[in-house]
Amino acid sequence: MSYMKGLRCRECGREYPKEALYVCEYCFGSLEVTYDYDRIKEKLTREAIASRPKNLWRYRELLPIDGNPTDGFNSGYTPLVRAHNLGKVLGVKELYIKDDSVCHPTLSFKDRVVSIALSRAKELGFKIVGCASTGNLANSVASQSAIAGLKSYIFIPADLEAGKVIGTQIFHPNLIAVEGNYDEVNRLCSEIAAKYKWAFVNVNIRPYYAEGSKTYGFEIAEQLGWKTPDHLISPCAGGSLITKIYKSFKEFHKLGLIDKPKTKFYAAQATGCAPIVNMIKEKSEIMKPVKPKTIAKSLAIGNPADGYYAKATVEETCGSAESVTDEEIVEAIKLLARTEGIFTETAGGVTVGTTKKLIEQGVIPKNESVVICVTGNGLKTQEAVQHHLEKPHKIKPNIKAFEECCEIK
Ligand SMILES: *Cc1c(COP(=O)(O)O)cnc(C)c1O
Ligand SMILES: [Zn+2]
Repeated sequence: MSYMKGLRCRECGREYPKEALYVCEYCFGSLEVTYDYDRIKEKLTREAIASRPKNLWRYRELLPIDGNPTDGFNSGYTPLVRAHNLGKVLGVKELYIKDDSVCHPTLSFKDRVVSIALSRAKELGFKIVGCASTGNLANSVASQSAIAGLKSYIFIPADLEAGKVIGTQIFHPNLIAVEGNYDEVNRLCSEIAAKYKWAFVNVNIRPYYAEGSKTYGFEIAEQLGWKTPDHLISPCAGGSLITKIYKSFKEFHKLGLIDKPKTKFYAAQATGCAPIVNMIKEKSEIMKPVKPKTIAKSLAIGNPADGYYAKATVEETCGSAESVTDEEIVEAIKLLARTEGIFTETAGGVTVGTTKKLIEQGVIPKNESVVICVTGNGLKTQEAVQHHLEKPHKIKPNIKAFEECCEIK
């Protein structure tokens, strides 16, 4: 039943058993799941995938569990929207939005990674789960552990948006607001995970958790008709998502499901927290950690765990990187809403704004296919746009007042 072989160090290649391990004891490199691709190839055809239910488990052989999935049966398979209107404004012929702002159940791509993490945590015998979160992960762990009947401890920076906090509290987890930024929250969670042996989804079972992001990429390729786009713009926080989308395309190619991918990957961050983008633009080998200062709080990781892998993804694919200011993020959120009817959160503002910049700079050409990753929902970050919108007309309840205010004769 299992196609997962074990864990392997991404740096020195040492092999480990498929347990709750995440760091190589020889070189401190991070660990990654390995699979038996020969066996997967016999099983996972285009027809097999297409015949399965429309959720993220349709790629089950490429996901890190031993038995049957137990969580996330309604997660994934979000729309790939052909964005004609936005394409016209930006001047590109073939533009798509991969829209995880409507992922079930908590409206961000984090529902993918958490579906996988909880299924695996249960297989490994954990009864208590936790996470260090910039917001969306908190929402998803709280919701999905409620569904699974698991006790949860969720750690967030104390200054998160109200929508992200309430969107966690509502599921009744143990919610801990830490007076510090994400990097401090994460350090605390590493200590707690070591002491209490709970499954911190993005700490001690991170190798399994991170594989869930591949499903975002699998879906893009399947929804494009078993093709990959020429250009893909991904937001970066820890740098895992962009790395895993790239991996998903390579795996599909290895299995003969698609042609050799030629996709160029572009890393997008907010100027107020752009350690990955800065490193790529400066052609530096060293990532300088930053103190985040941006409205894009879901991306506000000053010392990204997968920063070097994100850089490698961009460089191997001949892509590039760009950042946008808070003002540009707000403008981009409004532009996407006005043209495509999609209300994204600040992270989506980052990718749309970055795409606009890269097209204006001539980095992304106008006659090739482009996918923009929209990974979260705008109803959770309302304070970002609240004071940048036209006020509603306020009138007395009669038709004359209506006609006067809207200047209708
Ligand atoms: C977590 C998150 C990301 C970035 O994910 P990484 O894998 O950490 O780079 C992007 N968008 C949203 C909305 C997120 O919540
Ligand atoms: Zn190692």
